[in-house]
Parts: sequence; C-alpha cells; structure tokens
Amino acid sequence: MPFQENTLSGLLKRSNQIPMSFNEVVINSVEIYKADIPLRKAELLSIGEFRATNNIIIRLNTNTGLYGFGECCLIKEVTGETQSLAFEKAKLFAKILLNKNPLEIKNCNDELEKAAADNNHSLKSAFDMALYDIMGKYCKLPLCLLVGGYKKRKITTSITIGIDTPEKMANEALYRCRSGFTTLKIKLGTSVKEDIARVKSIREKIGYDISIKIDANQGWDVETAINVLKKLESYKIQFCEQPISSHNINELAYVSKNSPVPIMADESLHNINDLIMLKEKKACDYYNIKLAKSGGIYSTLKMLSMADSYGLKLQVGCMLETRYALTTATHLALVSNSVFFFDLDASLFLEKDPVVGGITYLENGDINMHLSPGIGAFFDQSFLDNLECIKIQTAN
Ligand SMILES: [Mg+2]
Repeated sequence: MPFQENTLSGLLKRSNQIPMSFNEVVINSVEIYKADIPLRKAELLSIGEFRATNNIIIRLNTNTGLYGFGECCLIKEVTGETQSLAFEKAKLFAKILLNKNPLEIKNCNDELEKAAADNNHSLKSAFDMALYDIMGKYCKLPLCLLVGGYKKRKITTSITIGIDTPEKMANEALYRCRSGFTTLKIKLGTSVKEDIARVKSIREKIGYDISIKIDANQGWDVETAINVLKKLESYKIQFCEQPISSHNINELAYVSKNSPVPIMADESLHNINDLIMLKEKKACDYYNIKLAKSGGIYSTLKMLSMADSYGLKLQVGCMLETRYALTTATHLALVSNSVFFFDLDASLFLEKDPVVGGITYLENGDINMHLSPGIGAFFDQSFLDNLECIKIQTAN
C-alpha cells in the first residue's frame, strides 16, 4: 500500500532541512484540549446515557518542528476517569514530558505510568499515542510498519445499536442492515424479559444472515446472565461482552462455563496483567482490547504479543473517540494475527468529524486506510481553535 501524499509530506520535507540526530529531539511544549463533540442522537447503555464525547486531545510539539497528536475518551464507568480530572492530570503529564526525548518511548511510558498511579490510563494513552505519532514521522513510517509490520487484511467494523424499546431497536437494526452492515452489536443489560424481547424482535426483523454480538456492559448479575444467555442461545449470538461486573473474575469464569454463548471480557480487561489472569482462570472465550483501557500503544503491543503467543482471540474496540484514535486502533489491528473482531464504529455516531486523513468507512462498515508516517491523521486546526485549551511549555 503506497504512502499517501498529504500535508504531512510538507512537514517532513521541512524537518529534513533541520539537522536532527535522534538524541537531540526534545518536547518543548504540550497543548491539552477538551473536546466535547455532540452525538447524532443520545445513546443509551446499561451504564448510562451518552449525548457527547468527553475527550481530551494532546499535541506534543518538539524542537524539530515534528509534532504528534493523541486522543482519549474518558468514561468513568470504564476507566474511573472524568474529563475534568483528566484535564488537570494532563498538566502534570505534560510537565513530566517537557524536555524529554519523545523517541525514548519506553522511558516516557515508564514516567507516565508512575504518575498515572493505577488510574488515568485513558489519559496516558493519549500521550503515548502522540509519542508514537512523532516516532513514526521521525522514522517516516506508518505506525503499523513501525510496530510490527503491515499485514494485508480486511477490516470491517460492527455497528452498535443502543438500548431502547424492542421495536425501535429492531427498526434501527433493519436500517443498519439495509445500509450494508453485516455485524450488529446490540446493547443489553437491563432485565431478562426486556433483553430477550429486544433480541427476539431484532432477529424477527432482520433474519439470521446478519451476525449479532451482544454487550451487557456489566448489567446483569451471575444468575441473570446465565438465564438470559441460555434463553438467547437459539438467536445465533456470536458472543456476549462483559455480562457481569468487571471485578470478580471467578464469577465471570462461572458464567463463561455455564453460558451457551461465548463470553468476551471487556471492562474486566485493561492491561496485560488482566489478560494473564483472565486466561489462567479461563474466564472468557474472547478478549476486547482498547487503547483507552490499556494505557496506550506501548502496553497494547505487549498484549498483542501475548495473544499471538497463546492463540488468544481478540477484538479491537473503542470508546467514543474520533477517527484519530480509531485510526490508531486500526494500525494495531493490522499488525496482529490475533485480532478476529473489530468494533471501531464510534466516530460514525459523532455530529462532527474533526480529523484529516486516517481511516475511511464504506457503507457496509469496511475500513480503508491510506498509510502515511505516524498515525497518518491530524486534527483540523479550525476545530482545535474553538476548544478549551491550555499550553504547557518550557521556560525561555
Ligand atoms: Mg463492551
């Protein structure tokens, strides 16, 4: 796949004029933005209703003219982070990275990890993403080539149907199928009766040729989960994400053992330690990895490597990010043999698309990406200019 010529090429040509040894590159300022983009319509999940993104965008600038963007989505029910707290914490992360070499990604990640203190991993993922964007531009390589090698494969995202009445969900499902989507992700997690009625209504409307995966977002207890999943068996369900609370892995293993529908861990899986525990306890059949949960590319690569070694089957998922973070996730899906499922639809729900370059969607959910150095996308400056922003920079 040829590299796409875009405005990055101008930047790279300019940077070529600057004598730049790898050990002379230094971060000299950090811009932190609050990005609230309204959704096209409110989306209801078992953890709450969402009307807009609550994201943070990071831009790391260097003394060479090279810069990197990162983005994260803050959903406190998933990572315990809120946008306002993350905005404050980002100032600390920025000060940690000032005067550091962004190409020393391990060192930068270690420093951020210490400051993250078991939390702030979604925020950390935005900084990590920006570091890799700079690294890719410096090396003149797209992220997927930089971290593992591009593997030609088809990537098709599922499309999410939020919680609503059975009739409205069935109509939405039919609309999505007629648009060309071949896999639906149905949000559930309220009660046995309601959830069964939702799936029944959808199957009656769309038939059985379309794949359906379901996601309870921790909405059931153990007994309800097993009860619902047994009743849903005949509706041909590909798998169920996170049926019960994220914290008790033994209980998740019990549900998994007694469910006729395969189980995917989502909220229970953040980092490689979780991946090891879930695997050892046989707590699930599949694993949903997200940059926002793992802390970024650096830590996700460890998980991909482990999954490749043990033959684990992964989904690359998302929160409510723009095409920027989704492009990053697509790069990672391109480098691993273990990614079997793709859930990268978030940007399709946003009213505005502030991203230039990166992935594009076909109507059936197929994802295309023209490769260019780094993440291969950036945020429109006119969009950034209207956001709340703080700039942290080195003293002159
Ligand atoms: Mg999920």
